[in-house]
Amino acid sequence: MTATDVLLEIKNLKKYFAMGSGQYIHAVDDVSLSIFQKEIVGLVGESGSGKSTFGKTILGLHSKTAGEIFYRGEALPKKYKTSDYRQFASRMQMIFQDPYSSLNPRMTVGEIIGEGIRLNKTFKLSEVKDRVAVWLERVGLQADHMSRYPHEFSGGQRQRIGIARALILEPEFVVCDEPISALDVSVQAQVVNLMGELKQSMGLTLLFIAHDLSMVRYVSDRMAVMYLGSLMEVGAADDLYFSPMHPYTEVLVGSNPEPDPTAERERLSTSIQGEIPSPVNVPAGCRFANRCPKVMDICRKDTPKLIAINDPEREVACHLYG
Ligand code: SF4
Repeated sequence: MTATDVLLEIKNLKKYFAMGSGQYIHAVDDVSLSIFQKEIVGLVGESGSGKSTFGKTILGLHSKTAGEIFYRGEALPKKYKTSDYRQFASRMQMIFQDPYSSLNPRMTVGEIIGEGIRLNKTFKLSEVKDRVAVWLERVGLQADHMSRYPHEFSGGQRQRIGIARALILEPEFVVCDEPISALDVSVQAQVVNLMGELKQSMGLTLLFIAHDLSMVRYVSDRMAVMYLGSLMEVGAADDLYFSPMHPYTEVLVGSNPEPDPTAERERLSTSIQGEIPSPVNVPAGCRFANRCPKVMDICRKDTPKLIAINDPEREVACHLYG
């Protein structure tokens, strides 16, 4: 991939939330990441690592504290004005984590899916119903479902409705915020497969946020590992999963269920110890030091930078590598 293939370039992004006592939650802390056109980047890490805040800040749902986000080379505004909507916001959408709470129970499925194109005036009102019918079928539901209400559907079907609502605007970039975590295991693979198919047919670029590494690896081209608001490792999905370099990635991979019993990866016996530090009082040096089985003296003093290791696509933030 080359610089001209970059869809989104995120540079030194910070998102801090004020706590009202002069203290700040460092939810996203100096994150840089390039996302290439038509790729799926899986963003993984424990709960509270800042993954969702990162996705929402890219989309302008949170205003950034510092840093720059470039979309096709153009800097995104700190806060969207109405005039920015067509230019940027409609090209970027989000699929939410919870298919139960993210759909308005008083609206029909047709109203929910068609709301974006009605507000955005992308299509004539007479065409909205037809577009909704097309999208219901594209996500594996039926056109006559549009007159029903969300409570009449299962969790997996509701997530399909959420996917149709986001994609009917034909965005280029979609943040999928833990789209499978609220679903039964049996339904998760169906939704992941659907995302993969839609990515292929629409040429979508996705940031796929999840904590289930094995599922994310299955769907992603590259993966990025986040810990306490910072990126620890970035690389091709299979390389990172089968040959993790950062000690945090190692324990994350080792503690993840392996859905494919024939896979050759040797399960790591290490399990993660200790608590994730508070994002209010971020420790000096490496923020993983208090839990790292390979910690050294330097780790508690100097913050390791995310640097390319051997291969320009593999980046690691750890003193073990320089
Ligand atoms: Fe562990 Fe040190 Fe690497 Fe941090 S920098 S992950 S503490 S070895």
